[in-house]
This record gives sequence, C-alpha cells and structure tokens, in this order.
Amino acid sequence: MLRVHNVNAAYGAVRALWDVTISVDEGEIVVVLGANGAGKTTLVKAIVGLIEPSSGMIKFAGQRIEGRDAHRISELGISYGPEGGGVFRDMSVRENLELGAYHRRAWERRDKTLERVFHLFPRLEERERALSRTLSGGERQMLVIGRALMALPTMCIFDEPSIGMSPLLVDQSFHVISQLRDEGITVLLIEQNVNKSLEIADRGYVLQNGRVVLAGSREELVSSEVIGHAYLGL
Ligand code: ATP
Repeated sequence: MLRVHNVNAAYGAVRALWDVTISVDEGEIVVVLGANGAGKTTLVKAIVGLIEPSSGMIKFAGQRIEGRDAHRISELGISYGPEGGGVFRDMSVRENLELGAYHRRAWERRDKTLERVFHLFPRLEERERALSRTLSGGERQMLVIGRALMALPTMCIFDEPSIGMSPLLVDQSFHVISQLRDEGITVLLIEQNVNKSLEIADRGYVLQNGRVVLAGSREELVSSEVIGHAYLGL
C-alpha cells in the first residue's frame, strides 16, 4: 500500500535520511522506532508531503506521491496525526473534527463520518462543544485520532502519539490505534515507546542516524539485540 524506496532528505546541509526503504501492506500496523533525532519525523513529513525528498521514490496505492502537495496526498487517503497532536486549543472539539474533513470528498460526507467517530469515541460526543484546551490528555489523543479519521483515510500515520503521556493513557491510546485496524485502516506508527508499540504492531523498522538499521516482524524485533541494547537496557 505504501512503499518508500531509497529516500534521502536533508535540511540544507544537514542530511536527515539516507536511502530509507520501508513498506506498509494493507491492513497492517507498522511501527518505525528510533531515538530522538533519528529521522522519524522527517520520514513522515516526506510521506505526507510536508517536505520534498532530495531523491528516492514514495508510492501510495500505486501512485507516485513524493514531492506532491500535502492536501493532494491527504485526498489520496493518507491522514496524519503530528507529534504533539496539532489540536487547535481555542476551537471546540467539533470544530477541530470538522477541520479534519477539509478536502471535498470528506467534507461532503462529514456528518456521516462524525457519527462514526462519535461511535468510536463516545467521550468526544459528550465533549463536542467543549474547547479543546479543556480536554484531558486522553481525550485530546482521541481528538487527534478522530480528526485524522474525518479525512476518510485508508492509512493513518501517527507521530509519537504516546509522548508525554501517563502509562494509563499510553495503554488507552494504543488500544484505540489497534481498533483502527478493525475499522479497515492501515496504520504507520512512529514511536520511541518500544514495548508498547511492539504490542500492537505487526512489523517494524528501527531508524538510527537517518538509516534503517533493522527491519522485521514483531517477534524478530522483540528478540533483536539492537532493540535490546538500544532501548531495553539488555
Ligand atoms: P524526535 O523524536 O526528536 O522528533 P526524529 O527521529 O523525529 O526525532 P527528526 O526530527 O526527523 O528526528 O530529525 C532528524 C535530523 O534532522 C536531526 O538531526 C535534526 O536535528 C534534523 N532536523 C530536523 N528538523 C530540522 C530542521 N527544520 N532544520 C534543520 N535540521 C533539522
């Protein structure tokens, strides 16, 4: 469904990605793990059209998307939940959700999609009129996911959804992400939380200094020495 092939990216003279190749098949949850500065956010920004790779190919659902505008990529079916959520704090929950339906196909169907989001997250319906600044961390995370769904995606990409969250909220958040698979949505997850993300992921990659240093199934990653050394203190 998504194929990133030999992608390179740089910020001026700072090279951030080196020949990165990853793929995500339909119906999977795939995680990209890596420490601060490994290049995870740069990879996601290249996929969703927020930066242009200096070389390489990105294909989604059979179409080349590298270098295309972010809104065109969103229309093709990729929704993005940025690091920190990107929620507008002075807007209501409903207004934030409606913003997610900004392209025409999604806008025309926004009432139906809103019903689906409220069915998935009844708490968001209860807080529909509340300003987003008043939400708890868990509610805000539901809003980030709900807003991503409003664009009618076939794939959702979430950049470090667990950052700054209590362990309980991390559990809730990952539970919700795993539910997306049951909704027929493919997920690419960017994370530093190795333990939790490997509980829900089918496969994963490890990025280090802008390079993929490891790829494998959940089981392979859990038992890998790279993960053990770098993240689990083994
Ligand atoms: P984090 O978990 O801290 O978000 P990350 O794995 O997402 O880290 P990136 O944000 O992709 O890493 O950063 C990769 C590299 O690119 C780092 O060396 C970073 O300093 C550099 N970088 C990121 N954004 C910029 C920018 N706007 N200008 C210059 N260098 C940048």
